[in-house]
Amino acid sequence: MRTPFVVGNWKLHKHVADALALVTELKNQLAAVKGVAVGVAPPFTALYPVAKRLEDSPIAVASQDCYWEEKGAFTGEVAPGMLKDVGCTWAIIGHSERRQFFGETDDTVAKKARAALAAGLGAIVCVGETLAQRDAGTTTAVVETHLGALRGLGVEVADRLVIAYEPVWAIGTGRTATPGQAQEVHAFIRGWLGKELGPAMAAAVRIQYGGSVKPDNAAELMRQPDIDGALVGGASLQAADFVAICKAARPS
Ligand code: PEP
Repeated sequence: MRTPFVVGNWKLHKHVADALALVTELKNQLAAVKGVAVGVAPPFTALYPVAKRLEDSPIAVASQDCYWEEKGAFTGEVAPGMLKDVGCTWAIIGHSERRQFFGETDDTVAKKARAALAAGLGAIVCVGETLAQRDAGTTTAVVETHLGALRGLGVEVADRLVIAYEPVWAIGTGRTATPGQAQEVHAFIRGWLGKELGPAMAAAVRIQYGGSVKPDNAAELMRQPDIDGALVGGASLQAADFVAICKAARPS
């Protein structure tokens, strides 16, 4: 059984005081909620204080990116070991906004995912097609190319590897994939895992859905057999919405 995993990607939001206020609410409201793993991904500047505030809580802390080198002349970059040092246990890798605005490629996603895993972090690797690619009928081909970043990974990382299927056309648009559309791609991803990385990986690796997940659509998405939680952007910035999504992800 895969424990569903819901992660809030805060993107470029929340100064330290606001970040602490939000995680304090989450900590309190989620304390009695069982059956779902929860994480938050604040901006780099709030990672350390948020991780400190969550020290006595099962809520995990994730970064929104990481570099693949541990040290050196790489101005502006943050190493996986540095993220662990401030209390992160996960890193989001290859978010479509990083591909779109910051030149992330399949090659850099592969390097970052491997570096994060080698350092002992969990990696949430994002995959997903644009609207033009979906309309052209190339969704699975695009997703398969993105999944190439994971080739060669072994079962020892199964519980620290998460794939987030995020159709780009559904991110921040209010337009969600239907549960059927999402399940179809999730099943494709699980099939790919079985074929390329083996049945143990296919059974264990969690596949999150991301793209305008809200309290009113979460339950139906989370009921799909190959959807193991959510990567949540906008709705993770308000405690009430995020808590409702976490509750909806619990197995029924
Ligand atoms: C995201 O940024 O990963 C995301 C899914 O955003 P939103 O929930 O706002 O669509």
